[in-house]
Amino acid sequence: MSNLRFKSVEEASSRKAVKVELPKERVDKYYASQVFNRQKMFEYLPSETYRALVHAIDNKQPISRKLADSVAEGMKRWAIDCGARHYTHWFHPLTDGTAEKHDAFIDHDGKGGVVENFSGKLLVQQEPDASSFPSGGIRNTFEARGYSAWDISSPAFIVDGTLCIPTIFISYTGESLDYKTPLLKALNAVDKAATRVARFFDPEVNHVNSYLGWEQEYFLVDEALYDARPDLVMTGRTLMGHESAKNQQLEDHYFGAIPSRVAAFMLDLETECHKLGIPAKTRHNEVAPNQFELAPIYEETNLANDHNLLLMSLIAEVARRHNFRVLLHEKPFAGINGSGKHNNWSLGTDKGVLLFAPGKTPEQNLQFIAFVVNVMAAVHKHNALMKASIMSATNAHRLGANEAPPAIISIFLGSQLSKILKDIENKDIDAEIILARKEGRDLKVAQIPELIIDNTDRNRTSPFAFTGNRFEYRAVGSSANCGAAMIALNAAVADQLNSFADKVEARVEAGEEKTHAILSEVRSLITESKPIHFDGNGYSDEWKEEAARRGLDTETSAPKIFDVYQAPETVEMFRRVGIYTPKELQARNEVKWEMYSKKLQIESRVLGDLAINHIIPAATRYESLLLDNVYKIKELFKGEKADKIARQEMAAIEQMADHMAAIKSGVETMVEHRHKANRKKTEREKAIAYHDTVAPVMEEIRQHIDALELMVDNEIWPLPKYRELLFIR
Ligand code: ADP
Ligand code: MG
Repeated sequence: MSNLRFKSVEEASSRKAVKVELPKERVDKYYASQVFNRQKMFEYLPSETYRALVHAIDNKQPISRKLADSVAEGMKRWAIDCGARHYTHWFHPLTDGTAEKHDAFIDHDGKGGVVENFSGKLLVQQEPDASSFPSGGIRNTFEARGYSAWDISSPAFIVDGTLCIPTIFISYTGESLDYKTPLLKALNAVDKAATRVARFFDPEVNHVNSYLGWEQEYFLVDEALYDARPDLVMTGRTLMGHESAKNQQLEDHYFGAIPSRVAAFMLDLETECHKLGIPAKTRHNEVAPNQFELAPIYEETNLANDHNLLLMSLIAEVARRHNFRVLLHEKPFAGINGSGKHNNWSLGTDKGVLLFAPGKTPEQNLQFIAFVVNVMAAVHKHNALMKASIMSATNAHRLGANEAPPAIISIFLGSQLSKILKDIENKDIDAEIILARKEGRDLKVAQIPELIIDNTDRNRTSPFAFTGNRFEYRAVGSSANCGAAMIALNAAVADQLNSFADKVEARVEAGEEKTHAILSEVRSLITESKPIHFDGNGYSDEWKEEAARRGLDTETSAPKIFDVYQAPETVEMFRRVGIYTPKELQARNEVKWEMYSKKLQIESRVLGDLAINHIIPAATRYESLLLDNVYKIKELFKGEKADKIARQEMAAIEQMADHMAAIKSGVETMVEHRHKANRKKTEREKAIAYHDTVAPVMEEIRQHIDALELMVDNEIWPLPKYRELLFIR
């Protein structure tokens, strides 16, 4: 028989290592060449238009129709000069990834020919017929229109000859239907709130920016092997596959030498990134075989998120050029590490001060401490929400498994910062001392020391870790839109900073000295938010018990984790900072539940198909070979010897038969559960049914298939095995 697996293995291993060819030009020559950045604006826009646009961007103001017309004209000329023929509004619906609908610039010229046109109206707003995007019931089909509107803070760019205009996506009645709209609102809210607090220390501060540096982890698989795995093609992960004898136990892949085929791919990818102004900087092998990481220099959060979304589509395209397929799924392979997307996050003032970085003077350090403590308080209050913001059907496989953060949010601070907070709480560091230092008096007692936070003080088991001048939110999934996590975090922190500012201002109004007031509020926040602080081993079972005692959220069922989005404290918080209405929150949850069920439904269908139409037939074929063999043994050997050999053979056959029977009945049960789940009245109940009934049976079926993989003749096994998928030669 022709075995697909062997054909694909042969094809994959016949690929020669590729020579890494360096770009001919220096990087500064092509960096951002496909982006309508300020340099291009300056070149292509009338100077008055340029000035007005830059002013609007810097001050977050809307632009007039007249200005838009002038910008559109310049943008079109630039795009056409770059060879573009089409334009699109590029937005982030509530699916995975981005959406676009291309239109050519052409218009009739009235003489039988065409002209290339692009007006301010088309630039600023469109009405894509986008009724098929998930809206959680906000749009009925009779009012299916959604609007996309230009986000002037994110520059337009060209991909494959199409001018892409980053836009927000909202319904006819004004509700957001995407990630960008609430993200922009959250960033605005944190800007306002953090500016209030930063002004306690520097009255000159006008704005506070939120920064994001994501680290994208991914797997590469040879295209030929990928094509022979319907589960990878349809679901992005392997639904079966026995562990490979060697995987990551020798720890030889992490930071190891990059195979030249992969190095050539990475270089190509980075060059494409750089042309699009994505500041790709770091690349390395990750822990699991075939797992890698790309990280850019951090940027303002909205832009960084656009860049991550762009990267996720670029990486797939460039991988294909190199006969690879990229897997962005959080857990493509059982038994080895999954992929995350660490979100390095910080706040910084327009005066260039990073607010989570210790300073040189006691006052700067008090500002640093105040911001850190407010983050702790926000994450503590909303720890369940933080977890919900990163939860998905795919990330659920990674969290709580033994190599990833647990499904509990806690904050790691490190020994130095922990000690300082303790000293402040115990009044070993006092406002008197800070004030004395300010007046130049030397008190020769403990004081806020010059803080040098040791960056090597790391804890990889923490889902949310302080790392010197930023927080690293590690629980985010590799395939996620970072927007979800960044909306929750920036919103919660904004709300907390507002409450802090209110309290400090009230104290000052009542006559308390400002430093006193700040320190008093900091002190009570330290006490209040202590339960979120955990520097120990987040993977341990003791921590799960301890976390429950501390009142942290320990729910592990994804559909139930989503509930917190509709809890009163969440609804109130989002309302106060002006990000979501209750209706929007409810609609978004409907989408989350629906997506969860649909993903499990697809996986379950693929598993059923593979089990019944691929695995069982192969195992049956092998079983009948063995049975033939028993007959032959009985023929050739007589008496006790024949019985003994036949018994041994039969034992193996019975074992196989048991696994096959379990697979068949498992698939029947799984299908029944699916039908029952599909009949549930609400999306929430349906998702819970998929989680509670369908997922466990899928896991059981898998165990039996993986056991069969070890028994059936290698020649007959129909799917590429882990040992083949995981090692690029
Ligand atoms: P590690 O894997 O050791 O955590 P990496 O070098 O892989 O570090 O990634 C660190 C990421 O953090 C980079 O994207 C970097 O730009 C980003 N980063 C550094 N400083 C900040 C900051 N102040 N705010 C946000 N992101 C930051
Ligand atoms: Mg990191």
